[in-house]
Amino acid sequence: MRILVSNDDGIYSPGIAVLASVASEFGEVCVVAPDVERSSAGHSITASRPLSYRPTRIEGLTAFRVNGTPADCVSMGAYHWDKVDIVLSGLNLGFNLGNSIWHSGTVAAAKQAALLGLRGVALSAPAGAESVADFEPLKPWLRQVLQTLLTEKELQLVNVNFPRHPRGVIWTRASVRRYDGKIVPTQDPLGKKVFWFTVTPIEGADEGTDRWAIEQSWISMTPLRLDLTDGHSLEEVRARRPLDEVLAAAVSPGKSSPQAAQSVREDEAPAAIPKAPGGEPIDP
Ligand code: MN
Repeated sequence: MRILVSNDDGIYSPGIAVLASVASEFGEVCVVAPDVERSSAGHSITASRPLSYRPTRIEGLTAFRVNGTPADCVSMGAYHWDKVDIVLSGLNLGFNLGNSIWHSGTVAAAKQAALLGLRGVALSAPAGAESVADFEPLKPWLRQVLQTLLTEKELQLVNVNFPRHPRGVIWTRASVRRYDGKIVPTQDPLGKKVFWFTVTPIEGADEGTDRWAIEQSWISMTPLRLDLTDGHSLEEVRARRPLDEVLAAAVSPGKSSPQAAQSVREDEAPAAIPKAPGGEPIDP
């Protein structure tokens, strides 16, 4: 089993050292992580400048640091180290529950794995750990979670959170009903107005959600999916307000021509498709 390990706290975080060391019990491990902390970077990728890939000394591990985002690290890792079976991202210092799944760099690394056709697991622990030793009580639980998820091969993408004192492990759904992000105005030392983006406490999480699980000291495992399409709404709106679907199905072929596909790719990102010196597009 080849296990690529990444995170968003940066390659020198104690969380990634613990995750990589426990993962080593299950297979061959390669660490590829950001050179600095990229928490809350979400699923951003670096497309406007080149990336570096530098070997980094971490005791007993094969590790590389990248001057990019968590998603960049997973792409770079999968490029340099082939036949990756699964990508583990974490252990993050701080939970990634409910709506923070959208902002999280930890989850984004796992999502990038899923986009590449690999399996991805994001793992988050309570904030405040300062050294590898602080994670010692969680290690047996981490082992149990990896044992479960490494063998549950149907699950493409899973978000895991560990409470401080786990009682057991449960499957959950994401608690996105209420948002905990908030802007707080304050002043800089010169009296100018500045703003902090911070979080406010959320109470009364719904039963069966990730936040509820952590409040009740259960390890939370939420299977996620990449397709954000709201299938139920799509069906309803197609029935309620049909637009040009029938016409589109009648006049447009089921599979687009290579020219149509190429034209869309060019409009997605300028110069995304490399051109040979003669001006001919290089077939990717
Ligand atoms: Mn983080």
